[in-house]
Amino acid sequence: MLMRDARNGATPEIKEIAKAEGVDAVRLSSLIAKGLVAVPRNARKSIAGRAVGRLVSTKVNANVGTSKDYDDCADEVKKAKVAVQYGADAVMDLSTGHDRDTVRKRLAKELEVPLGTVPIYHAARKRRNAVDMTADDFFSSVREHAKDGVDFVTVHCGVNRNALGRLKNDPRLLNIVSRGGALTMAWMLHNEKDNPFYEEFDYLLEIAQEYDLTLSLGDGMRPGCMADASDRPEFMEVITLGELVKRCREAGVQSIVEGPGHVPLDEVEMTVKAMKKLTGDAPLYLLGPLVTDIAPGYDHLVGAIGGSVAGMAGADFLCIVTPSEHLALPTADDIRDGVVAGKIAAHVADTVKEGQRERSRETDRRMSQARSDLDWKAQIRMAVDPDRAEHIRGTRMTEGETCSMCSDLCAIKLVRDALKSGKI
Ligand code: SF4
Repeated sequence: MLMRDARNGATPEIKEIAKAEGVDAVRLSSLIAKGLVAVPRNARKSIAGRAVGRLVSTKVNANVGTSKDYDDCADEVKKAKVAVQYGADAVMDLSTGHDRDTVRKRLAKELEVPLGTVPIYHAARKRRNAVDMTADDFFSSVREHAKDGVDFVTVHCGVNRNALGRLKNDPRLLNIVSRGGALTMAWMLHNEKDNPFYEEFDYLLEIAQEYDLTLSLGDGMRPGCMADASDRPEFMEVITLGELVKRCREAGVQSIVEGPGHVPLDEVEMTVKAMKKLTGDAPLYLLGPLVTDIAPGYDHLVGAIGGSVAGMAGADFLCIVTPSEHLALPTADDIRDGVVAGKIAAHVADTVKEGQRERSRETDRRMSQARSDLDWKAQIRMAVDPDRAEHIRGTRMTEGETCSMCSDLCAIKLVRDALKSGKI
């Protein structure tokens, strides 16, 4: 198990990750051993691990997956590959369609980045009615996914009686918007039992130990709109997740904590810092966050604004939001737009993050140098989305070495030529 191995110093895998991240391998080992950095990867397969947490670069995840209405396995695999092509560091398969097992198995085999899933979706589909799941269905789904080579699983362990009690006492506009959280809540109320993932967390740890599976402790109680943000049910769940992080660390199981969701801009920093404090500085994985509710069709931009501020405050892992969020299952183009927006947010965060600041700013400096040199090839090569940059330039060219924005009145060229005259 990587977390335990890391206690004895840098393994070859850790050394490789440290090199790619430009950080010290011994320090990285120590952070992994303490659970402050997670490297989601299943012990039964070999992929280049991506580190999430302190000191390393901010990572980006893209969600794909079928639904009952759009149930095309090949399409979801294609979307996952588009996500990786545009820089996603991880992919989560949220399939709930008929062919969900094939999607998961293909992604586990074909992707070169960590794969995450939400096994409760699988458990819910095992029965005609989701509330008829057995406690064993919860755990056997996790085991099946781990066996298939999934690297990290979202488990909504914090949706327990305590959290639901807070929801009852503190009503919301949008109640629960997490699909896993909603399934868990419906099951608990129907069966009049507590959440099996919470009650039998030790059993979950045993499965995770067997496969060195990373547990992504899900935010089933995350607020689904600005009006519900930062309330008691949300933070009740975070308190529980913090306790479970401790148990993961004692068991040598890597863990990540998931967070909101919808957060007003002036509450993003507080949310990140409070979550970090309550979870012992566990790697923090946020959905967005979305900082306004009014932009369906443009939620990838809203997520990038929230993600930049959250990353600056200490969030480590950003789940991308696509333009189709709140509207429909995303297309491959939506995934590309979402990943690019997420990568921009992650880079912006890295320009101020300890361990990444110098490297990230050097990337900006190199782009600026290419701009100053009017070196279009280099600018396009270094662009976060080279295809788009090249397309835009190619469709509206100008004569000469400038661009068609100012054409012959290019400020960069005018000043360069004037300076060359040597008169100042
Ligand atoms: S033409 Fe204008 S926009 Fe284009 S490179 Fe020159 S200064 Fe920049």
